[in-house]
Amino acid sequence: MQALELLQKHFGYSSFNPGQESIINDVVSGRDVFVLMPTGSGKSLCYQLPALMKPGITVVVSPLIALMKDQVDALRINGIGASCINSSMAPVEAENVKVRLLTGKDKLLYVAPERFASYDFLPFLKMLKISLFAIDEAHCISEWGHDFRPEYRRLRLLRDNFPDVPIIALTATAIPEVQDDIVHNLMLKSPVIHRRSFNRENLTYYVRPKKDSISQIVDYIRARSKDSGIIYCQGRKTADRITSRLRQEGFRALSYHAGLSTDAREANQEAFIKDDAEIIVATIAFGMGINKTNVRYVIHYDLPRSIEGYYQETGRAGRDRLESDCILFYTYADKRKVDYFIEKLRSTKKQETARKKLAEMLEYCESRECRRRFLLDYFGETFDGICIKCDNCIMPHEVIDGTDIAKKILRCVLDLEQRFGATYVSSLLTGKSKSYAHSMLKSCGAGKDYPAKQWTSFIRELQPQGFLKAEGDKYPILKITQSGMDVLRGIVTVKLTKPAKIKLTKKEEPITALFDILRQLRKVMADAERVPPYIIFPDSTLKEMATYYPQTIDAMAKIHGVGEHKLQKYGRAFLRKILDYCKEHNIAEKQKSDEVPRISANGDYKQTLFLAKQGLSLREIATRRGLAESTIASHIESLFMLGNDVNIDNIIPKERQDAIEREMSGLATQGLGALKEKLGDGYSYDELRIVRAMINSRRTAKA
Ligand code: ADP
Ligand code: ZN
Repeated sequence: MQALELLQKHFGYSSFNPGQESIINDVVSGRDVFVLMPTGSGKSLCYQLPALMKPGITVVVSPLIALMKDQVDALRINGIGASCINSSMAPVEAENVKVRLLTGKDKLLYVAPERFASYDFLPFLKMLKISLFAIDEAHCISEWGHDFRPEYRRLRLLRDNFPDVPIIALTATAIPEVQDDIVHNLMLKSPVIHRRSFNRENLTYYVRPKKDSISQIVDYIRARSKDSGIIYCQGRKTADRITSRLRQEGFRALSYHAGLSTDAREANQEAFIKDDAEIIVATIAFGMGINKTNVRYVIHYDLPRSIEGYYQETGRAGRDRLESDCILFYTYADKRKVDYFIEKLRSTKKQETARKKLAEMLEYCESRECRRRFLLDYFGETFDGICIKCDNCIMPHEVIDGTDIAKKILRCVLDLEQRFGATYVSSLLTGKSKSYAHSMLKSCGAGKDYPAKQWTSFIRELQPQGFLKAEGDKYPILKITQSGMDVLRGIVTVKLTKPAKIKLTKKEEPITALFDILRQLRKVMADAERVPPYIIFPDSTLKEMATYYPQTIDAMAKIHGVGEHKLQKYGRAFLRKILDYCKEHNIAEKQKSDEVPRISANGDYKQTLFLAKQGLSLREIATRRGLAESTIASHIESLFMLGNDVNIDNIIPKERQDAIEREMSGLATQGLGALKEKLGDGYSYDELRIVRAMINSRRTAKA
């Protein structure tokens, strides 16, 4: 069977995610393949489908038992024979699996890398016909990564023992050193490298001032109390404190940290995976081995230590590609906590690296630019789309004339004889002094119009602009530069920013009651089968059901994520709930094909459409997108041709539209040249094209 048919039959998906199809083709053709794709892009399918297409067995190496179990459950529920062998199994169980493999019952075998150390495992593998080795989480092979697993090094023996069996290695790690390590250690033979952007389009990034953060978190969660989320923090005490506050508020929250027994930890993790608890408050050790696809938010209560770690942790949100949030609470004071941890590191080399990583993390937090661009840039990728999904893009900082503010700061630094740091300068400005002498200074209390935190933030903005510099590592002292003196002399002006206020609590689409009903049914079924709910159906599938109200088996089969096997097994139960609901509320089925998004493939137009809907002018859209106005005009023209309705009143004033329309109706041709001749130089070609497209699209709509 062809890949696409198998995809529909077993997984219920009607199309491939970007990249999947060509990877599958390369794997099936027998080449070694190296896949670098972000979390949630559907890497597993890249070896699971070839496993079905090739004769013989695919052996998947995976680092954790939990991950393996999850995948095996998911495959079996889709009607695919799969097993795992791991150290937690009784010998007789392992024997059973061997029999299944030898008799062709299974197409996939999941194993942990340590399995290869056992003396009888390789000989057993040699008795099978192996078609493919898939090395999942391949970055575990590299000491550069954060998840180094020495047992992965043993995987070299695959190439020695099975020189003709192709290997596919997969990872979501974006660091180049790790990538090199993988190719060399696995001895991949001129592998085809499939690398996709690490951009996670469905994630929105926020950095919030760390102030009343627990209350902010409570408000945020209250608006989405049935959604799953992870809250990361540094210490177990903090974790317990947040958990108990959330429980007091009535949320189902659990802790996960080193202070709990292994059993308690596992139980809490399990409860989270099975949707018995919506929230897990964890120290950083949590998450590897979590396949849960419906994590709707990841909150960092404390400052992460590196961008890599931060990106990996936020990456656990939204694996099902539904919109999800990543929120980081930041205060500069948290730097000290990390410093303390760094000081305890034994080698100076390690300390140096850790300091560098921390500095990058701080830079991210304080950046006024697009967070997405910053993150992708960090991983060596240029992002030139429009983000619209980070705090800085949603609500850019307000730029203010900061000359007077800067003068106050600089004067205060001078008053203090350039012997103090940012914290003290800020507090003196607000009127808090350490000594009588300082309280007599003119600067004392000169800045009561802002709180001390805001002053510190202004000071930190003056530094990269070169007006101030901080000297000394541990207790940096502020010194004024030459340009700083120029500000005081009134020769130079200064621009500063003030944060715009964004409310976090907003939740975009209201969850329908039906979605909730289906979610409950899924939970009951999952518990009966002892699997996590997202394995029965991902959230995206339930959302589709709650959008299209399928009322027949045929309609149900068209829902994303409903394959043959799942249709047989669960279709009726879900249909019944939908039918009951629709009857009660008098709702008819919606045709799925009617609602194909009009401009699905072309993100390029989509961004223009989005900005046009915000009421921006042609020039504004062009500047925001970094494209020529004529390009934007042609986007709008195409948008009309594709059947979209665009309001162009902010792009071309209504009177001008009318004038163009009048002239056009008097002309026999649709040519722009003739039109331009009639209207004269006061009108641009861009305007003519846009209006022409609009008029034509109205005509087609009427026809
Ligand atoms: P990764 O390993 O890259 O993080 P997974 O393999 O876990 O991603 O897949 C993430 C989710 O996307 C899973 O729920 C999976 O079933 C789903 N998925 C994979 N391929 C497709 C596809 N072609 N269409 C729709 N969903 C898909
Ligand atoms: Zn952005």
